[in-house]
Amino acid sequence: MQNSQIYKIYNFNKKITVIEEQGVRMFVLKGSKGSLLVDTGYGGGDVKLAAQNIARNFKVIITHPDTDHIGGIKAFDEVYMHPSDFAQFRSRCSKKSIIINPVYENDIFDLGDMKWEIIEIPGHTCGSIALLDRENRILISADSVQEGPIYMFGEYRSLEAQILSLKKLDNMKDAFDIILPCHNMLPVKTDILPVLIEGAQKLWCGELCGKPVNLGWAQTNRYDYQSVSYYY
Ligand SMILES: [Zn+2]
Repeated sequence: MQNSQIYKIYNFNKKITVIEEQGVRMFVLKGSKGSLLVDTGYGGGDVKLAAQNIARNFKVIITHPDTDHIGGIKAFDEVYMHPSDFAQFRSRCSKKSIIINPVYENDIFDLGDMKWEIIEIPGHTCGSIALLDRENRILISADSVQEGPIYMFGEYRSLEAQILSLKKLDNMKDAFDIILPCHNMLPVKTDILPVLIEGAQKLWCGELCGKPVNLGWAQTNRYDYQSVSYYY
């Protein structure tokens, strides 16, 4: 299939282009001195070509190594991610030769007219990261902050860590106005953070009632709290 049938591509603003594939979002952050491709989708199309049509000489950064974010990784030789996600990534990536470069809290990708800072937000996976552009007040939150159900069941996830990471982001919300998640509504506002925290805390304390959900590839339970929900 042609890329045009697989990807929906549009500009969020002058420097941020969105590539959507079956409900998952990637971002091309195009700066004056360099660019970043954030995540690689399911790998249904040629994501490298799609990104090259938007920006030259980009680095690839992975927010977390779930299959809907690393599916297109085989097209690349080098990638950036948090070391706490290396084991999960290696267990799911058949391309053994790929070089992984570590990123840590407060590392900055300086793209010239735009700078993106790494924020560690473990929980959804052990090494989940967000990217923060302090000047333009934008946070890319991947799957950890979003309007749809947040997956907290299965291997590599920790609801306890997720609660701490959400509190950390809530304490930082003077630094951003807009949140760009990889799924569902785009953008979302910072007022989702306290709701996500309350929901996760109630879930942790056993105060929410779950309904069984069959995802086809997994069975889990859905817990709704106000406008947010968790699969746990
Ligand atoms: Zn995802």
